Amino acid sequence: MQNSSRVALVTGANRGIGLEIARQLARHGLTVVIGARDAKSGEAAAAELGGTVVAEPLDVTDAAGVERALRAIGDRFGRLDVLVNNAGILIDEGKAASTVSLDVVAKTLETNLLGAWRLSQAVIPDMRRGGYGRIVNVSSAMGTLGDLERSSGGWPAYRLSKTALDALTILLASELRGENILVNAAIPGWVRTRMGGSGAPRSVEEGADTAVWLAMLPDDGPSGRLFQDRKPLDW
Ligand code: NAP
Repeated sequence: MQNSSRVALVTGANRGIGLEIARQLARHGLTVVIGARDAKSGEAAAAELGGTVVAEPLDVTDAAGVERALRAIGDRFGRLDVLVNNAGILIDEGKAASTVSLDVVAKTLETNLLGAWRLSQAVIPDMRRGGYGRIVNVSSAMGTLGDLERSSGGWPAYRLSKTALDALTILLASELRGENILVNAAIPGWVRTRMGGSGAPRSVEEGADTAVWLAMLPDDGPSGRLFQDRKPLDW
């Protein structure tokens, strides 16, 4: 199948790393759907990229909205081949696990973990029908167990959400083994975005590269692995 027939959905793609992932996937010839919780901002991003990029209103925490968005994508394109779970929040700057508000933890998990889980559950039936699927979870080095151990415990909710997202990656990959639906996690590194701040060393182009590479894996590619700079990394 040609790349031009493939359809990809990137969540949180109206800005930052997600927007760049959408740009690079479109360059590979895919039809790309920008999922954005703010419809206007999604439309503006799609217009910026042009070509085969469209926008769909999508808040990953809204179950009915996710269903609606996927129905719209199905009606329009009749398929969904690639899902990049990129949408994420970091709202526990300066907090510690012993004192952080559990509301903050719940909100973080709702977006960073359950959002990705919800979207994955929603797209897997179509991927199974098509006999093809690539799911990429945008994770963080801050979620790896080694980094948790070395850290002084800051950003507990954000870290845990990414550790859990990594675990979800393994679980889905194990479940889907042999079905040509490859599920992997990508670490972008520290990237200059609203989340990463202007002092981060990496560009969005560098931050998006591994996720895009994983989205384009051949059928004999890896599954259930974590990658940074296209190289496997320990969880
Ligand atoms: P960003 O510039 O803050 O962008 C985050 C994106 O996620 C925005 O488009 C935002 O939409 C969207 N989003 C948040 N909650 C959402 C929801 N409920 N539904 C749909 N979209 C939602 O952050 P970024 O740096 O590009 O981060 C992208 C991913 O990379 C995140 O998963 C992040 O954890 C990961 N990451 C980033 C870095 C870094 O250094 N930047 C490092 C490691 C991992 P709005 O515009 O509506 O807010």
